[in-house]
Amino acid sequence: MTRLAIAGLVHETVTFLPEDTSLEAFERGAVRGEEIIAAYAGSNTVYGGFLKICQENGVAIEGLLCTECAPSGPVAKSAFQTLADEIVSRATLWRDAADGLLLHLHGAMVCRGDADPERTLLLRLREVLGADFPIAVAMDLHGNVGAEKALLADIVCGFRHSPHTDMGETGERTARLLLRQLAGEIKPVMAMARPGLVLPSIFTATDVSPLREIMAEMRTAAEQPGILDVTLFTGFAYADVPEIGATVLAVADGDEALAIRTAERLSARLAEAREALYNAAPLYDPEEALDKAAALLAEGIRPIILLEHADRCNDSTHLLEAMLERGVGRTAVPYLHDPIAALAAASAGVGGHLMTAMGGKSSELAGAPLLFTGIVTFAGPLRYRISGPYRTGEEVDLGPAAVIDNGNIAVIVTTQSITAVDTDPFTQCGLDINEFDIIALRSKTHFRAAYEPIAGAILIVETPDWGPADLIGLPYRNAPPGIYPITMAPPDDGLFDGFNDEV
Ligand SMILES: [Zn+2]
Repeated sequence: MTRLAIAGLVHETVTFLPEDTSLEAFERGAVRGEEIIAAYAGSNTVYGGFLKICQENGVAIEGLLCTECAPSGPVAKSAFQTLADEIVSRATLWRDAADGLLLHLHGAMVCRGDADPERTLLLRLREVLGADFPIAVAMDLHGNVGAEKALLADIVCGFRHSPHTDMGETGERTARLLLRQLAGEIKPVMAMARPGLVLPSIFTATDVSPLREIMAEMRTAAEQPGILDVTLFTGFAYADVPEIGATVLAVADGDEALAIRTAERLSARLAEAREALYNAAPLYDPEEALDKAAALLAEGIRPIILLEHADRCNDSTHLLEAMLERGVGRTAVPYLHDPIAALAAASAGVGGHLMTAMGGKSSELAGAPLLFTGIVTFAGPLRYRISGPYRTGEEVDLGPAAVIDNGNIAVIVTTQSITAVDTDPFTQCGLDINEFDIIALRSKTHFRAAYEPIAGAILIVETPDWGPADLIGLPYRNAPPGIYPITMAPPDDGLFDGFNDEV
């Protein structure tokens, strides 16, 4: 019987954020051993995809450690070391009993003192498992995937959709290829090409032109005889690392030249489309967005989705402040992260009157905490399985949460940080989504799966938080020369002197 080990360490790191990400953040969602089945079987997640293929093929599995947490600042060095130590020591114990390893990484994880901890983890795994031990990795489309990391694996497959409605499918592709390799049916070889650009997350929606057409070409390329898989990574613009940027990665069956040609052709397509990719949708500042929303509502178009997309931590207050000064319709703000406000509201209970400062705590760019006065209309712990098309079936635990409603704006405050991307916040908190003219979200692309079908209009609101569409003003120090649009030419100094230093 074939036996596969499964592990995962997933984090999308915003290196510009001031606060480190702690071990506790990863421990909250960690699963080990058999727990992986209860947590993920049947879900539209990478692990759900791994488990499905293993089950279909009668493969025995061993969960090592699978953990991830919401996007946040650099991972504390000790946290990464503890997690990597556990994965490596569990892999060492399981090594002689396992035929291969299925691994889930994001591709854009950074820790203090290590710009590419995923590479470090793969190197450590290679040390104990050996150069010939089959390792297949499933990654996020938003990875900064350099050759030094990717080529440590036998197989790398990434998400092809943003919103990532294909997480399960990506896990399946990865597991299927590993099993075919183990059966001796294929000899995977990988090649990569990098077009010298990075896309802001807001412009990585794969159903918006021109990325839609390039993704279609990528899928056609993946169907060529001799090609086993192709991924187009858009890169993650908010991790300031030497490997920042888009990557096309092709996996071929023994034919390295074919893999190289395939990756280079798609990479050239990305490079030639770079200006169009970077201007894929109009941007509004909060005042312009409210003007536009008011005009659309006057025409009977509703609901209007306002996307405060630059907010990576779900606590930015720029748009809420503008909406408090000038209400243009009945408004919902699902999932504002503020543990103190959430606890105060949950303690006040349903019907309680509350005046609380909320949001604006993740960094000075998140805006000031806002004084908000309202009535609590829902209070309680929020723990449920996601019903939307993204991460379907995965359990989330947001801790104490509450709806505070001032009669015009209803804000759902949570203890844990999560980006609202589907309609679960409404159903879970007893709100009727049809009641709202404006829904203010902080998503980049994932909301599209649930909201495009019901939205009257989608307006992208540019605010000065750490995830803007306009990358030019961000304080990059490690991005290498020639990454459009952030380092068009070699800067005078300051290169490569940041995250590889001990901080
Ligand atoms: Zn992603």
